[in-house]
Parts: sequence; structure tokens; C-alpha cells
Amino acid sequence: MHPEARPLPLSALNHYLYCERRAYLIHAERVFVDNEHTLLGNLAHAAVDTPGYEHRAGWELLRALPLFSDTLGLSGKADLVEIRRDPTDSARIAEARPVEYKKGPARRWANDHVQLCAQALCLEEMFGLRIDAGLIFHVASALRTEVAFDDALRALTVATLSNLRSQISNPTAPPAQLKPQCDGCSLRGICMPEATTVRRAGLFEPRDYA
Ligand code: SF4
Repeated sequence: MHPEARPLPLSALNHYLYCERRAYLIHAERVFVDNEHTLLGNLAHAAVDTPGYEHRAGWELLRALPLFSDTLGLSGKADLVEIRRDPTDSARIAEARPVEYKKGPARRWANDHVQLCAQALCLEEMFGLRIDAGLIFHVASALRTEVAFDDALRALTVATLSNLRSQISNPTAPPAQLKPQCDGCSLRGICMPEATTVRRAGLFEPRDYA
């Protein structure tokens, strides 16, 4: 990691893939507003946000585990990490998989997969092992979706982090652009994508010269 690069929260990757402007407003300008989606997301995470430890189906469950990667310059917290220890050396973690809780069903954007992959990259560095897959638990359906950390997803995750760092080091935010993601964005009232998008389309231009 570059010595001047401050650690970024894992959630910043999710924000960036959702919308580059949203990531800039949150992580460069420190603007944040909740809406029903963010509050429901907080409730989903609150269910697993108390650090804890239990066993289930042969896995040791570590809740609210702090994560970091000095190499990538990332830090954050995993909702849940499931681990199996080396039977011949209980101090050594032989297998691990991150589990991320999401309030709704599977989304159209790849951001959840990238955020989960970034968690896995942190765990690989922390535990010194390879992690092939993780899980997303969809609270609404109570189903768990497996996410494979293949080369393509790993490359996308590292490239997204690089692009995010580059973006938030810019002096100005990227322009607002009205898109489907704006419907669920808690910053819509501040960002006002309709204003900039409609103006570019010629709202203030004369429409009839006759
Ligand atoms: S309102 Fe739309 S353009 Fe603005 S930050 Fe949110 S998603 Fe991005």
C-alpha cells in the first residue's frame, strides 16, 4: 500500500460500483444520509453485529469479525466468518468463508460480490490461506447464495479498488447521472440527478424559435 493511502472501508467498494458519484460524496466529501433502504440494511446487520462465537454444522462461527488488509489498504468488519481449524493444530485455521447479510433478494449490480470478495482477500492475508468461495445471506428470502472467488471476480475487485482510490482523489465529484440506482439512493435529495440530467438535455434552451 502506498504510505499516503489511507485505509478505505470495505463498504466503499460497494458504494463505488453502485454509483461513482455516491462513493465520492460519501468517502471524499463525507456526506451521508439514511433512507429506508439504508436503515433496513442496518437492521439486517444489527442481527449479526454483536461479536460472538458459536459452532454449527462443523463450522466455527465468528460474528462481527474485524478485517484488514495492509496490502490493499482496506479495513472493515465481516458480518460472519465461518472457519474450520486444522484438526492436528487447533491454532491454525485451515478453511474460512465470509458470509455477508443483505436485507433483500439478489440485486442486479455486482457490488455485493465485489465487497464479499474484498472480505475474502482480507481474510486470506490475515489467516494465510486461500478462500475459494463465500456466501451472501438474503434476509428477505432466508436463502444463502454461494459466490465463487474466481480470477475474474478477484481482478474486478482489485481494479475497482484502484479506480475508487483514483476517483476520490479527484478535486471534484463526478457529475450526477439519472439512472435506475438513483431510485434507492439515500443521497438523491442532495445529489439531485434530475436537475443536472434534465439541464443537459436542454431544459433551459428555447424550444421554439418561430
Ligand atoms: S442519486 Fe443517483 S447519481 Fe446521485 S449519488 Fe445517488 S445513485 Fe448516484
